[in-house]
Amino acid sequence: MSRGVEGIIMKAYKTDDYKLTVTSSEHVSDKYVRVGFDGGGLLKNHPVHPTQWVRLWIDDGTGKERQRGYTLTQQDPATDTFVIEFAVHYGPASKWAETAEAGDVLEATLMRGNNGSSFEIPEPAPSEFLLFGDTASLPAINTILDTLGDTPAKVWLEWQYESDPTLPVHAGPNTEVTWLQRVDDGRLLREQAEALTPAADAFAWVACDGRTTRSIVKTFKTVHGFAKDRIKSQAYWK
Ligand SMILES: Cc1cc2nc3c(=O)[nH]c(=O)nc-3n(C[C@H](O)[C@H](O)[C@H](O)COP(=O)(O)OP(=O)(O)OC[C@H]3O[C@@H](n4cnc5c(N)ncnc54)[C@H](O)[C@@H]3O)c2cc1C
Repeated sequence: MSRGVEGIIMKAYKTDDYKLTVTSSEHVSDKYVRVGFDGGGLLKNHPVHPTQWVRLWIDDGTGKERQRGYTLTQQDPATDTFVIEFAVHYGPASKWAETAEAGDVLEATLMRGNNGSSFEIPEPAPSEFLLFGDTASLPAINTILDTLGDTPAKVWLEWQYESDPTLPVHAGPNTEVTWLQRVDDGRLLREQAEALTPAADAFAWVACDGRTTRSIVKTFKTVHGFAKDRIKSQAYWK
């Protein structure tokens, strides 16, 4: 099956390819599917870290494979198993996830050395974390929250479907979680970022759709004066 331009681009990098086998599938809500995988050796070569993600190759039904980013959660290097949570919309990856069954196989590519995917919790820990995302970045946000312990964190999550705010957020004792409806292409998240008065050493992590991500990052840099090393961002979808 052809991987088109995305396949050609990936060949220019040092990458590792794996065959992932589905071990379980659970519909967490009408718009969210949790799929368990055997990693086919993936976790033996790639150390676990918060927000770790892979490029999945998904058949789009026209003889082409499309590349989509997905976050690894509940990684167990001893058994080389992990879980990927799919927020379901209308694309090939969403369709694949809705009908995934034990035994199904997907191919995944990772940059060697986690290039482009690495994220480390800053040391020393900032006095607060400010996290902006939605259901696509909720798995990554949960992997960050899992590492924070008592460190204060404020999380703003955008919801599109009634069931979204029922999804589990791994809030710690000092985590505040606010769900905001997606209106006007992310306006409420953008307004929230502008209205903040962040602590002087706060750290921001932003992963929404491309436009919203760019706008929030700009706000942190120009309105709140954040230096590059106090913010990490990535557009998760467009
Ligand atoms: C590093 C990284 C990690 C990611 N981790 C996850 C993860 O763990 N779980 C997860 O669900 N997603 C994750 N994503 C986002 C996911 O890759 C995209 O949402 C992807 O576009 C979905 O592919 P698709 O084939 O279902 O839809 P596409 O074919 O890409 O898009 C089809 C239609 O759906 C819309 N669409 C796509 N994604 C969304 C969305 N999230 N919300 C609303 N509309 C959307 C598009 O605008 C388009 O109109 C991650 C992305 C990155 C970059």
